[in-house]
Amino acid sequence: MPSPFEGLLPRYDAVVIGAGLGGMTAANNLAKFGRKVLLLEHHYQLGGLATFFKRAGGHVFDISLHGFPHGMIKSTRRYWTKDISDRIHQLKDVRFINPDFDVRTTFDREDFTRILIEKFRLPAETVEAFFAHLRAMNYYDNDPRTTRELFEQFFPGRPDVQRLLLEPIAYANGSTLDDPAITFGIVFSNFMSKGVFIFQGGTDLMIGLMTAEMKANGVDVRRNVLVEKVHVGKDASGRRRVVGVKLRGTRLGEEAEVACSAVISNANIKDTVLRIGGEESFDPAFVEEARRVRVNTSSCQVYMGVREGETIPHIGDLVFTSEARPFSSHELVDFHTTSRTYSVYYPDTRPHTKTPRYAVVTSVNQKWDDWAGLSAADYAKHKARVIEESFRGLEKFIPDIRSKVDHAEAATPRTVNRYVRHVGGTSFGTKFEGLKVSMGLPEQVGGFYHAGSVGIIMSGWLGTINYGVIVSAKADAYLRDPDAGPIGEAAASAGL
Ligand SMILES: Cc1cc2nc3c(=O)[nH]c(=O)nc-3n(C[C@H](O)[C@H](O)[C@H](O)COP(=O)(O)OP(=O)(O)OC[C@H]3O[C@@H](n4cnc5c(N)ncnc54)[C@H](O)[C@@H]3O)c2cc1C
Repeated sequence: MPSPFEGLLPRYDAVVIGAGLGGMTAANNLAKFGRKVLLLEHHYQLGGLATFFKRAGGHVFDISLHGFPHGMIKSTRRYWTKDISDRIHQLKDVRFINPDFDVRTTFDREDFTRILIEKFRLPAETVEAFFAHLRAMNYYDNDPRTTRELFEQFFPGRPDVQRLLLEPIAYANGSTLDDPAITFGIVFSNFMSKGVFIFQGGTDLMIGLMTAEMKANGVDVRRNVLVEKVHVGKDASGRRRVVGVKLRGTRLGEEAEVACSAVISNANIKDTVLRIGGEESFDPAFVEEARRVRVNTSSCQVYMGVREGETIPHIGDLVFTSEARPFSSHELVDFHTTSRTYSVYYPDTRPHTKTPRYAVVTSVNQKWDDWAGLSAADYAKHKARVIEESFRGLEKFIPDIRSKVDHAEAATPRTVNRYVRHVGGTSFGTKFEGLKVSMGLPEQVGGFYHAGSVGIIMSGWLGTINYGVIVSAKADAYLRDPDAGPIGEAAASAGL
């Protein structure tokens, strides 16, 4: 087995820790700026949560290819390639089935306006005023109001409307009624601009294209390498600065040290500060702030592969189902929740495959604490339960689904934690306060940056790609002049 350190240079301009979408975008951008970049991923596969896995029977499963906003077309065209951007296409059949309503939609502003007026009998002026309010929302307004308060202002006493608005966003970024309204507002508005989109060709193709692009731009990509520590030194004026990283191969345990002037961490922000950076590298107050950051909820997923040659009917692209009444953010993440979303992958997801293939992935939002402490026997029992519940729910749409599926398996919060190392197996990074800690990192240690899911806003495929762009520009400015002040918040907001 070749060492992951073969041919490693002793020094790079920048080291990127983790090859999620945020890390890969930052690495690629820095390389395009002419920087010598080393990208290190502890897993054997790139993509982080935006990845895939294969199983016998010709099955390929996507972990997080369920839907993202239209903005991905622009971001991938600008910061990746036209080829990647051109493969993004719209999912036109988003479906909601629950005790409050049964709705099919293209999930854009025009269609939602129609549904809210015609089906939910809301006055047109209220709907228009709500969208106008969302459009005017700004991160820098520091508005402390919650999503619950926002909904009460526009749709008082209408849990059915609240469900229509929040349920899909809770699946997209883990936000709840009690999070700041901006976290709902920005992500919901992003989707409402033009609907829900997906990468045609599958995550395997996308990550392959991104890897080729990074390599063409000169990024030195290494897998199976864990970054254990970022070394921090002090310059002549006593300012803390990044000086290098300590690495460990995940297969054979071999160690290496690399010098660098900047580090961008795509690892979870708590892990970045408390473990990889190390408490001794920061002001105690900053460490305390990082410790107080709450991580978002996690997920269970059930991957169902339809046997080669079998077909399933069109039941919608993204089907949000629930038996809960009324809608509640708590029920949505309960261990025994009845809320689950089916992402149905028809043959046009991977049009290049020789025979048409179908798969269904069920997503359930879950809490780490419910899964973390289970014994091996209970863990296996509850995984089996989640698979069974997923089949039972799907049988309402496709009665003979069991006979068509020849592979089914479940992933849990523990799976997320194992593969991407996120604290609490978080699927969507941290709650709102994580953004401040992430942005404050370079003020603590010169050259130390974070690009990854934080603050709910900077999460999801689009959020993390955009954050990678912003942070790579900051790191490049630092490499040009380590003594210049940090880039202003106004400049950073350009990419929000
Ligand atoms: C089940 C599920 C469904 C989702 N569905 C959607 C969706 O439909 N649409 C959407 O937009 N978003 C979705 N998301 C969220 C989205 O996938 C993530 O927000 C996004 O991919 C996170 O990207 P990231 O850049 O923050 O890094 P991550 O993907 O979290 O990657 C971080 C990387 O860093 C690596 N790493 C960590 N520590 C180290 C270390 N010390 N050394 C080396 N490597 C390290 C990890 O292995 C990982 O590869 C979903 C997430 C989940 C879990």
